[in-house]
Amino acid sequence: MVELGSLLGTAGQAAEVLSQATGLAIYARSIASDRGSLFFLGKGPDGRQLSVLARAQPEPGFTLTWRAVTLGGERALLGVGRADHANAVVLRERLPFTAPVVVGVRRSAGFGDRLGLATPGHIRALRTVRGVFPVLAQQSMREMERTRRTPAEVLDAVTWGAFQEGWRGGYGADADHLKAEADIDACAAAGYTMYTLDPREHVDALAEGDAFGTLLRKYEALPWERLATTPEAMRAVYVGRSWSLGEGCCITFDEGRLLGAACKYGRALAHLAALARRLQWAMAGRPYEVEISVDETDAPTTPEEHFFIAAELKRLGVAWVSLAPRYGGRFEKGVDYIGDLARFEADFRAHVAVARAMGPYKLSLHSGSDKFSIYPIVARLAGDLVHLKTAGTSYLEALRAVASFAPALFRAILRFALAHYEQDRASYYVSAELARVPEAGSVPDGALDALMDSPDVRQVLHVTFGSVLTADDAQGAPLFRGRLFAALEAGEEAHYAALEAHLARHLAPFSH
Ligand code: ZN
Repeated sequence: MVELGSLLGTAGQAAEVLSQATGLAIYARSIASDRGSLFFLGKGPDGRQLSVLARAQPEPGFTLTWRAVTLGGERALLGVGRADHANAVVLRERLPFTAPVVVGVRRSAGFGDRLGLATPGHIRALRTVRGVFPVLAQQSMREMERTRRTPAEVLDAVTWGAFQEGWRGGYGADADHLKAEADIDACAAAGYTMYTLDPREHVDALAEGDAFGTLLRKYEALPWERLATTPEAMRAVYVGRSWSLGEGCCITFDEGRLLGAACKYGRALAHLAALARRLQWAMAGRPYEVEISVDETDAPTTPEEHFFIAAELKRLGVAWVSLAPRYGGRFEKGVDYIGDLARFEADFRAHVAVARAMGPYKLSLHSGSDKFSIYPIVARLAGDLVHLKTAGTSYLEALRAVASFAPALFRAILRFALAHYEQDRASYYVSAELARVPEAGSVPDGALDALMDSPDVRQVLHVTFGSVLTADDAQGAPLFRGRLFAALEAGEEAHYAALEAHLARHLAPFSH
């Protein structure tokens, strides 16, 4: 039997023929031939439509409207339906390259997408480099709440984006910064493959400054039963011992250092072990992987603390592929690293030594976007043991695109963001000064997109994304959401181009 795809010629010719048959604009890269059927994505007045060309029988499971057609002299069945959740679930089964997989311990990068429109741009950036495995779905519960999206919606957007762009390279799906068991259940139900466990609420940041007597009291009061050990047994493991990890990294513990590490992270470790058990139960035999994240705490994680966390998690039976310490210096949102590069390098070298000796596992860089000055250091020292997380920077690139083709909308969003910055900045590491952000009306159209190169403008727009995306007008209708999405859909190619250019810059230092 002749393959349906071969009747239609090249992808470009096929897109033309399929466009006439469906009345949709066909994404040529989406055309996928599998077991006698042809799957492709089109765009029409009702948004994206999944289309399937089948031989004799409709493809089972999909919610599509089927009709008989004749193409290239052959009779076939054409099914067309919405690119919605129900069809995404079936598509992931039928074309497994559209479903997330486990990434493992190999060089990787995460691409958070707050709008659900960025995946094709992310994939185009990926195509410019070699040896970086993508995590295309990545969103924390906090971000989902702020954008009013569900775990399933985030994953579906990536499925359709990967399908649209014809990405066969595989991708991971990161349920980011999970703090509670309920979060785990929701993301496991949606089919995520990577789980970033975040015990920040159980980290005792004050332990660093505590006097020895206070530390002793805190140490005795740790949840020893949940830690499955005793104060004496833990002392025996660490106090007076040292470990030579190579690369000149030697980890040494005296009592003060052990008490400091145990008091700062002890409750967090017990919480992580509980989350890991819940996750194992929720995934019920399906493949998954874990990232441990202690990055969003005030005090940097020392190499000794990192070693302690890894050793204790291993003892508690937790397995993970990546870990995010809190590095020294400032990882502010949307701008380059702020701090001493030589000190960062020395610090990072020690963390790499710990990750090699105790795993190997990857070191994860959170708030990793736009940290151009440290990428060469990270790539050189970590080799394959690195996972780079980016998220808000893609939203900023969407706004850069909007500035270029919808200046009035961009100005309105910037004014709104300025009014909400002081309130919205509370949960973020940012230092933008409103006085350094120009009045939008004073900037000519042609210079608006260049505003996105100002660190102050970037941070103001970065932290206000939730307010911008969920604000309502006086009548209760969305203030920006509809207009922003319509503008980005109309300017789809410019949006992807902005994302490709900006994220390719992130990935280049990590290309093999
Ligand atoms: Zn983080």
